[in-house]
Amino acid sequence: MAKLYFHYATMNAGKTTILLQASYNYRERGMTTMLFVAGHYRKGDTGLISSRIGLETEAEMFRDGDDLYARVAEHHEHTTVHCIFVDEAQFLEEEQVWQLARIADRLNIPVMCYGLRTDFKGNLFSGSRALLAIADDLREVRTICRCGRKATMVVRLGPDGKVARQGEQVAIGKDVYVSLCRRHWEEEMGRAEPDDFIGFTRG
Ligand SMILES: [Zn+2]
Repeated sequence: MAKLYFHYATMNAGKTTILLQASYNYRERGMTTMLFVAGHYRKGDTGLISSRIGLETEAEMFRDGDDLYARVAEHHEHTTVHCIFVDEAQFLEEEQVWQLARIADRLNIPVMCYGLRTDFKGNLFSGSRALLAIADDLREVRTICRCGRKATMVVRLGPDGKVARQGEQVAIGKDVYVSLCRRHWEEEMGRAEPDDFIGFTRG
């Protein structure tokens, strides 16, 4: 049976590169893949999945209220689809995660979701919460903090280069995200004593 996968990580861990490579592997073997990316912060109908190392591929966009099961089922009727890839899966609605599960369960197509686990405040995104709850297979894409420990958290740096401790879950603009280990994240967020502080704010 096909499975629903959630590959989660913090920012800049290379999730998108892994997604594009995996899709390429299918296509190289003559198989068909469908790619989705969040359309919440994009215009038009066609999205582009771009990785930091320069790979990019066109993708369909998903937005709130879209029925992903219906879209895949319709496509699958005339062209056999071998795998579904979803980038920025943290922005999925809970219902859309269930639709993706249904694609695996009823259409027998594997669904590979890639996304962030938590936002800069350390809270789960809606899509990530649902995926962590019901995905068959959870895989962590690892990256490291500048101290060398595994990075599991992210801080947002505003235009002034300082760590944001409040604000909307997603900022559209020139904000920069930096992945940190949990210890350094707590120090940067002002939640823990800075015993081991190597932060942005001390200068
Ligand atoms: Zn660290």
